[in-house]
Amino acid sequence: MSRVVIVGASLAGLRAAESLRTHGFDGEIAVVGKETRHLYDRPPLSKKFLAGEWDADRIRLRKPEEIVALRVDWHHGTTATHLDIENKVLLTDTGDFTYDACIIATGGAVRRLPNQPNHTGIHVLRTINDAEALRDDLAPDKHLVVIGAGFIGLEAAATARAKGCTVTVLEGLPAPLIRGLGESMGRTVARVHHDNGVEIRCNVRVEEILGGPAVSGVRIVNEHGAPEVVDADVVLVGIGVAPATDWLGDSGLTINDGIVCDENLQCAPGVFAAGDVARWPNALFADIEPTMRVEHWTTASEQGAHAATNVIAHLNGEPLTPYSAVPFFWSDQFTSRIQFLGRGTNADDVRVVAGNPDEGKFAAAYFGNDRLIAVLGVSLPKAVMPARKLLQDRATKSQALAHFAEAAT
Ligand code: FAD
Ligand code: NAP
Repeated sequence: MSRVVIVGASLAGLRAAESLRTHGFDGEIAVVGKETRHLYDRPPLSKKFLAGEWDADRIRLRKPEEIVALRVDWHHGTTATHLDIENKVLLTDTGDFTYDACIIATGGAVRRLPNQPNHTGIHVLRTINDAEALRDDLAPDKHLVVIGAGFIGLEAAATARAKGCTVTVLEGLPAPLIRGLGESMGRTVARVHHDNGVEIRCNVRVEEILGGPAVSGVRIVNEHGAPEVVDADVVLVGIGVAPATDWLGDSGLTINDGIVCDENLQCAPGVFAAGDVARWPNALFADIEPTMRVEHWTTASEQGAHAATNVIAHLNGEPLTPYSAVPFFWSDQFTSRIQFLGRGTNADDVRVVAGNPDEGKFAAAYFGNDRLIAVLGVSLPKAVMPARKLLQDRATKSQALAHFAEAAT
């Protein structure tokens, strides 16, 4: 009987196990995961769960009976420490697992500031434990200082502000959400924060988090180049994640900001990667980004499922199938529902193509290499979803502009 070992018991790992069963794999499946809590969904951790509106049961990824039906040996609270590819063995802190095929879905690990102290009131946000700890510290009379104006930072800022906290966001770059949306759209989308009383300060350098034993403030070099202390009762450090590959150092896999895979998500014979940890050539975007790594829910879900189908093909000696897709993510901040299709990286032209940013409802098209590479929508889903087909078809700039002009009439 074949055995598939999945490393990482979260979204991509779960979807891989489900897809193995859906596609008829009847062998053993073992899933090894570092966390001890049941399988839960991360997006609500910065939204409804952080707000206290949803509890832990509400964010389960699957019902207990669905988990049982998968016939998986779950090894929660187990950390993978090494992958011996030659002998097909996964080493962990609780024992070894031999495998016929392996799927790595270890996701991302939060980055911390180089000199980040352990004062009470300082938080990161990746796990349900992190979210519970932060939620317990947020109260109407508190001043939350968020370091990093990325998705975590701005979603948590909106949630905390809605709970009545005073919120200041500190960002090193000239605008919020630059990595995800680019400078002009990052600035435009973040207007909703100003409208709701969140202070976002860009072009500041964080020097040190102050306090002890409780956090008391953040020492910065401010936007005018002057030293300043921003008082804080609670600090959230939201400065991104690094792919969780530390345990793969001497495995022989190629690691370069993620596990480098081929177009089939395979990184060594019979070893596949999926989700936040995987870097692969996405054929639909090869002209603008030779390889990419996507840190969003839909890609993790799709890649987990796709890697599993390739595992079955590998075990049956059949050809593998490339994974190419238009990445998608959403983000909820106050009343704005942000939706994004494609890749904004390397855009050389970004234009509003529907709605009006001043009214908080609009869509923008991103162009690169003379073609459409991404579409952003803010509270305008009707403008975004039809664009998936344009992105799949690699529409030229003029084709895409004609589409948006027609849709606007
Ligand atoms: P992860 O969910 O990171 O899971 C990896 C698992 O592997 C973890 O449980 C980890 O503990 C485990 N692991 C790591 N190393 C080891 C090891 N050595 N041994 C064993 N286990 C290990 N995306 C969106 O598109 N929209 C959103 O609104 C959105 N909101 C988000 C809000 C928050 C607060 C967070 C944190 C993320 C959000 N995301 C959102 C991103 C989305 O949740 C991730 O892209 C997705 O969780 C990635 O799934 P994954 O399975 O690849 O990795
Ligand atoms: P992120 O989107 O990478 O944003 C981190 C931000 O912090 C970046 O703007 C980064 O700038 C900035 N930063 C880095 N170092 C800093 C410093 N020393 N001082 C001030 N700012 C600094 O990551 P994130 O917001 O932390 O999110 C973590 C993960 O969760 C990501 O994978 C994200 O995709 C995921 N997530 C997704 C969603 C969603 O899709 N809706 C929601 C929440 C979380 P640089 O670019 O210069 O480093």
